[in-house]
Amino acid sequence: KATRKAIIAGNWKMNKTATEAAELIDALIPAVKDADCEVVICTPFTSLVTAVEKCKGTNIHVGAENVHFEKSGAFTGEISADMLVDLGVEYVITGHSERRQYFAETDETVNKRTKAALEAGLKVIVCVGESLAQREQGVTEELVRMQTKIALGGVSAEEMKRVVIAYEPVWAIGTGRTATADQAQEVCAAIRKVLGELYGEEVAEATTVQYGGSMNAGNADELLSKKDVDGGLIGGASLKADAFGAIVAAA
Ligand code: PEP
Repeated sequence: KATRKAIIAGNWKMNKTATEAAELIDALIPAVKDADCEVVICTPFTSLVTAVEKCKGTNIHVGAENVHFEKSGAFTGEISADMLVDLGVEYVITGHSERRQYFAETDETVNKRTKAALEAGLKVIVCVGESLAQREQGVTEELVRMQTKIALGGVSAEEMKRVVIAYEPVWAIGTGRTATADQAQEVCAAIRKVLGELYGEEVAEATTVQYGGSMNAGNADELLSKKDVDGGLIGGASLKADAFGAIVAAA
């Protein structure tokens, strides 16, 4: 674990106008400046220019929340990976469960987006995770293994240096219901095992695997103390500078 990069990433979802984003970033900069981990904020497309500009010369890295897989063309309303790179954006989230649930995202489109983002030079946070029904049916590990494998189809070992996996149980996202540290550890370890099967031990040991789902200042310490939990993807708590700062301090 000591050899892996811990990453705390905020996912702002559909929150903050560009004006509000500027204010939040002004508050975040001092709150995370002493971080030992890598700090990322993923903002709506409309705040990316502001975020990149404001975060220049700070330890905050900027990401988008989604990306389209085609390079350009007649795809009204979509944003390509090259467009993000051109803005100075470094990260992108793919496969967030809200995209899967509300916007018909599938394992196949998550794979296409992941590959397109990597090809353009972005770092990618690939989200996987089970629903409550799937956990109750006892298929969590099988499902997460499959989601991980399909999302990474065609991704090379070299490209894996720019891939982060976020384990996000759907039942824990935005619900205030966090996975226990042992549940998070169990699934993050299972993900690392699949990475080992796909790419070998060295890549598996080097890849950052985050937990996400109602992580906050109160539970971050315990979750992050687990051997295979290398950071967090933070929704709600990433919108408050003090809460996000406290999670960053725990990592
Ligand atoms: C997320 O959106 O990825 C997330 C984990 O949200 P929350 O922290 O609000 O549960």
